[in-house]
Amino acid sequence: MASLLPQKPHAVCIPFPAQGHVNPMMQLAKLLHSEGFHITFINSEFIHRRLLHSEGPDVIKDSIDFRFEMIPDGLPSSFTTNQDIPSLLNSIQKNLLAPLVLLLKKLNSSSDVPRISCVISDATMRCGVEAAEELGVLAIQFWAAAACSFMSVYHLPELIERGIVPLKDENEISNGYLETTIDWIPGLKDIRLKDLISYIGTTYSNDIFLNFLVDVAQSWLKASHVIFNTFDDLECEVLDAIACKIPCIYTLGPLSMIGEQLQKSETRSMRSSLWKEDLECLKWLDKMEPNSVLYVNFGSTTVMTDQQLKEFACGLANSKHPFLWINRPDVMMGKSAILPPEFVSETKDRGYLANWCPQDQVLLHSSIGGFLTHCGWNSTIESICGGVPLLCWPFFADQPTNCKYACTIWGIGMEIDNSVKSEEVEILIMELMEGENGRKIRNKALEWKEKAQEATKQGGSSYNNFERLISEVLQPKE
Ligand code: UDP
Repeated sequence: MASLLPQKPHAVCIPFPAQGHVNPMMQLAKLLHSEGFHITFINSEFIHRRLLHSEGPDVIKDSIDFRFEMIPDGLPSSFTTNQDIPSLLNSIQKNLLAPLVLLLKKLNSSSDVPRISCVISDATMRCGVEAAEELGVLAIQFWAAAACSFMSVYHLPELIERGIVPLKDENEISNGYLETTIDWIPGLKDIRLKDLISYIGTTYSNDIFLNFLVDVAQSWLKASHVIFNTFDDLECEVLDAIACKIPCIYTLGPLSMIGEQLQKSETRSMRSSLWKEDLECLKWLDKMEPNSVLYVNFGSTTVMTDQQLKEFACGLANSKHPFLWINRPDVMMGKSAILPPEFVSETKDRGYLANWCPQDQVLLHSSIGGFLTHCGWNSTIESICGGVPLLCWPFFADQPTNCKYACTIWGIGMEIDNSVKSEEVEILIMELMEGENGRKIRNKALEWKEKAQEATKQGGSSYNNFERLISEVLQPKE
């Protein structure tokens, strides 16, 4: 794509402090950099520290026109997200705005960098929009997840107004109330209360998750420009409904796919992993048969119990399929994940275990035949990029919505019951890897991969939207 810009514009990118938000914001930043933007990438202190210490070979590095900054978040140095999300949300709401405004003012008075043209903040970071308003620069929000989950959060205040949320008491979780169909949210089809977002399950009106999301949803009422990491074909109905509410929306996804074509060589190798990536697993995959390996990874924040971990291990062992299982060191709340020794010895010839991997590359590898996932949005869309079918075990946040769409609308997944029983895990793995249903959803996943390729190649919807974003919105005024 030829650069359309007469002079170097400056985009400030502010992700929500979590792996699943930093990665797509980094992809977006690299894309803008490839179009001649100066980038300032601002992380809160906790993430900045983690990125610096993740020991990866190609983690964050300043260059002349791609720079990293940090704002203090007031969290203790021992902080990790998955153990204390309420403290993280609290720090975002209370501690980030003032230092962010100071930093932006400093950048704007520096002779060393171009004046700021726009602030692109994660759509859950109100401080980004408020800081942009204070400086009088364009605020663009980036929803790093699917359009369907955006729509469900958008309607959270109405769900509360209608008395549907919060739940009256714990019994509503067991008495089938969450199965209630919600048929009035535009663009969302056959959606049940339990598919909307896991925070819906709360019974407390003062719940921090619920209040954080209500606050976020209210900020969207004023939003003028929102970028999505999805593509038109995948979510056309809900995107049409969003377009009736927000003046300018830009679907640029899958960002990893469009970025692959457009990124500059100097940023291509720059990774934003919070953990050290095991690259040996790619060599192990090279030795395996096409479509033979089940990839198991529950992302950066899911935690599980000892029993759930054992049920997965047992199901995996009994399925007799080769697997690549990534277990984050902190996947179990408060202690390190220890797999049963008999599982490790029994499966050592057909299993590869690691703590973290370059997932985008793993999902593009021809040996991967299925993905047992928590249905984080990045995992879901990266899987679509690889044409890989899903076994879904949603944990929280937008994951139930992604799971619902993957299994019933896009036809690329099968769901494992929340209670996790090894027998069910085993049966579903066998069905996914060698059964008729598995074959069908693999074909469907390949169809979506092709559509994603169409969207991101020259002339495709995401490619055109990116050009439109650059020319309509980000082109600096003379
Ligand atoms: N990821 C990775 N290696 C891993 C696990 C995850 O690189 O071993 C990346 C993955 O590619 C994705 C992100 O971390 O970009 C996880 O985001 P997702 O939305 O799937 O889930 P979350 O971590 O937010 O729950």
